[in-house]
Amino acid sequence: MSCSLSIGERYHAFPIFHGESRVAGDEVRTNNDAMLSDLDNVIMPLRCVFCGTPTRAPERHICAGCDDDLPRIPSPPPASSSPFEYDVAPLEYAFPVDAAIKALKFKRRLFYAPAFAELLCTAAACMPPDIDAVMPVPLHWRRRWFRGFNQAVEIGRPVAKHLSVPLVTSVRRQRATPFQSGLNAKERARNLKSAFVARGVLPYRHVLIIDDVITTGVTMQQVARVVKQAGAGKVSALAVARAV
Ligand SMILES: [Zn+2]
Repeated sequence: MSCSLSIGERYHAFPIFHGESRVAGDEVRTNNDAMLSDLDNVIMPLRCVFCGTPTRAPERHICAGCDDDLPRIPSPPPASSSPFEYDVAPLEYAFPVDAAIKALKFKRRLFYAPAFAELLCTAAACMPPDIDAVMPVPLHWRRRWFRGFNQAVEIGRPVAKHLSVPLVTSVRRQRATPFQSGLNAKERARNLKSAFVARGVLPYRHVLIIDDVITTGVTMQQVARVVKQAGAGKVSALAVARAV
């Protein structure tokens, strides 16, 4: 893409694109109905979620220019004390990724979900082929009801489809914990103690737990503990971004 602007400048150059007018059309695209999605693309061609530029194959939701500018970070192998086989987050939780994740969660900008899923599908390609289930980190029912959706489900569903494995949602958040923002790892661990519970056995070899952002990692670890206690052999973590 021949554009001298940075991703931040491009992002702010399209304020209308990030406004309410775009939401209705994009919510249609989240229903996973391929026919409606294709029709939607004819009526409203796909545009880069960050700058609004029309995208062309093989680009879909993020143009090549913005993709080049995303704050990518390495994901080193997990420590031996980690419950995870792989612990991967391709992006740093920094602008414009942090703004996009907040817009997805708190402003219902659901058009970011397939773009993030696209990034996770690419990241999942580096994981072993024995993954046989994808599990989004659950929200408490009250927060899900208030928000109208669980962003981890919206991001995880296309990943499960891409890997041809089931999307498993049989772990639930049984306690409505306060927002984790501003808490350190110890406080988060205390906050999340017994927050998750599995309904029944999880007879999977390798469960891939998906979330939007990894801050301290405590949430993922708590879900991993419950998933393993319920019978899963191995667990890995995959998120869009990590706070570093
Ligand atoms: Zn772009």
